[in-house]
This record gives sequence, structure tokens and C-alpha cells, in this order.
Amino acid sequence: MDVILVVNAGSSSLKFEVFSVEGGLSKLLKGQMEGVGTAPRLRIKGTGSEMLADHQHSPSEVPDLPAAMRLVGDWLRERHQDRLVAVGHRVVHGGPDYDRAVLIDKTVLADLESYVPLAPLHQPNNLAPIRAIRQRRPDLPQVACFDTSFHRGHSAVADHYAIPERFYAEGVRRYGFHGLSYEYVANRLRELAPEIAGGRIVVAHLGSGASMCALLGGHSVESTFGFTALDGLPMGTRCGQIDPGVILYLLDQKGMKPDGVRDLLYKESGLMGLSGVSNDVRALLESLQSSAAFALEHFVHRIGLHAGMLAAALGGIDAFVFTAGIGENSPEMRKRIVAKLEWLGAKLDPERNAKGDLLISTPDSRLRVYVVPTDEELMIARHTLATTRT
Ligand code: ADP
Repeated sequence: MDVILVVNAGSSSLKFEVFSVEGGLSKLLKGQMEGVGTAPRLRIKGTGSEMLADHQHSPSEVPDLPAAMRLVGDWLRERHQDRLVAVGHRVVHGGPDYDRAVLIDKTVLADLESYVPLAPLHQPNNLAPIRAIRQRRPDLPQVACFDTSFHRGHSAVADHYAIPERFYAEGVRRYGFHGLSYEYVANRLRELAPEIAGGRIVVAHLGSGASMCALLGGHSVESTFGFTALDGLPMGTRCGQIDPGVILYLLDQKGMKPDGVRDLLYKESGLMGLSGVSNDVRALLESLQSSAAFALEHFVHRIGLHAGMLAAALGGIDAFVFTAGIGENSPEMRKRIVAKLEWLGAKLDPERNAKGDLLISTPDSRLRVYVVPTDEELMIARHTLATTRT
């Protein structure tokens, strides 16, 4: 059987899925190597969630992502008699130029390396498995699928900052991220709700990273994310939109170093920073501490504000869509957020919301509200198949 491997590499974890390409794409297994370099553990599950592997490894066996990639490759080769025909990678940054997935060659790899300064925390992790596979299997087609591509059609007005133009020219732009998720949801809406899919839609991807995207005719026209995945909504541990004056204050008045500011904004802020309890919405909903309730209130408040901003970008709004961990799984958070959208015409159907139906607004709701589970890996598999077959 011909299969495609999808790879999503983070700072200390390597997630992957395998898809059969026979008669359309279907998922065969998913796995992840966690704790790379510290306490590596490889877990792989089949489609029915049955455990296919659960191995602990020593840090010396899996010191880094290339080693993790080799180990996963070995497992797949030993276990599967399948023929690996291509590998698709999630790559956070496609810079100003890549507006679609691309087959990786030497030139493309050099371009992607040149974007490391735009995403220093993520891009090197995404590129490490690509290099490891190229070394072992130079013949194997590899495709880079970008979190930024889906937003490349934004107008110049939307993707500029009001700073001197020379910075825009060197790449300081409002790129937007989570693009693979939004593209998947936009496609899925065409299948599930064709009557609305061409309209003015705001999609809220609410997971440990969180953002919102304005879709017009199925295309992204605005995003809450900007130059980096720090902007917009507060997230599990990231701050979201912040006055740049706060950064200047931290540097000038508090004497913080850039590294310290970076850690503060990426790892110690958001729901975690505000609550002092957890970055996980489930834990915050259960907590009796007032700071946990406050953090959630702030999160919902900011989602409401950004919904208004994106509705303005669209000149009105026909539908609001929830996706990702919080959006797909938390009726309580959906209820609180929809309450902020009542002025836009949203009326929640409590029973449909509790069940997590596709449509969770009432029949007379002027704003339709949907829940559409995302699947970024399937989107990567589709791009990989399409790119290697053309
Ligand atoms: P990512 O892919 O960015 O890691 P996910 O989309 O998987 O994130 O979302 C993870 C987050 O979703 C968790 O941090 C948690 O806060 C939230 N989440 C998952 N399930 C639930 C639930 N039942 N209720 C509330 N929040 C949930």
C-alpha cells in the first residue's frame, strides 16, 4: 500500500500521522515522540485508538529531533510493509513568497532557512526532520506545508504595520498563522454547510494556541495573528495582543533581557500568567480560585473584541465557527463566547451546544454558529499528495 507520512515537529515533540493514499486519503495511525532530549517516549495509536507502541527511550538515544525522526522512521519501516511515497511537513513560516505548499529541494530548503529569523522558536524545529530525512532518503519527495500560506492573499492594507516601509520590505508583516486549520475548516464548510460557505465567516481556532480568522468567499482576509504567533487572543501561555510600550517598559525600566521578555510573553503569560493556576481551560473551569475565573473572563472578553474587529473587516458577519481543543470540546466556553456575540445576532441552542452539533444556533438566529472539528494533518496530507502528483 502507498502511504504518506505527515510530520509536525515542535521544540521537544515530534507528532506524526500515516495516511493510505489508495482510493482517497485515509488515516492509518498517529503517534508522537514526546520529551525529546529529556524523557523520550514514543506512543503510536491505530485508527481505533488501539495502542500500537509505547516505548520509553533514554535521552542519549533520542537527544534531538533528527534522532527522533530516525527512530520513528525505523519503527515505521519495521512495522509496515507499506511503500512510503512522500512526507508532508508542517512548517510554520513560508515567508512573504510561499503562498502554497511546495516540493522541497535545495533552493527551497535554503529559502526556508532564511525565514528562521522570522520564527526563531519554531522554524528550526520544523526544518530539522526535513534535513534528517533528506540525508537518509534523498530520493523521497518531501513537501513543506505552511501555516502562513492561506493568509498570503491578505490586502497590503491588512498585512502592514504602521512603521517605516523598509521593515515591510524585509519581511516585518502581519502574516497570520493556523492557516492549515483555517483552510481545512473553509473546505469542510463547503461540504457541510454550502449555503453559508461563500459568506462572511469568522473562524475561532481555540486550542493551546488561539487565533481567529475572517473568511470571505472561503478565502482568508484578516487574522488576529500578526508577525508572530504571539499576537491577537491570549493563549495557554502566550500573551496575545499587547501594547508595544509594555515591552519597552520591561526592557528599559525593569532591565529585563530580550530572552527574559521572550520567555515571559511565550511561556509565562496568557491563561497561565493571569490565573497562576493552569494553561488548560479544563483545569480553569474546575478551579475554585477567583484568578482562574478571571483568566477565563478575560479570554472570552478578548474573543468578543476580536470578533467585532473581524466582523468589521468583513463588512458584516453571517456565521461564526468554533474549532480546535477548546472550540470543539467545551460547551461551557462556547456558551460564554456566544453570549458576547448576541449583539451580532447570535442565539445559542443550548441542547445542540451541549451535544456539540454542527449547527449550535437556533433556527431564528441571525448569526449562524457552527462547530467544525479541524484536521491540520489531513490538510497536510492533501497538499502533499497534490504537490507530488503534479
Ligand atoms: P494544540 O493542538 O494547540 O496543542 P488543541 O487544539 O489540542 O491544542 O487544544 C488543547 C487545549 O484544548 C487544551 O489546552 C485545553 O485547554 C483545551 N481543551 C481540550 N478539551 C477540552 C474540554 N473538554 N474543555 C475545555 N477545554 C478543553
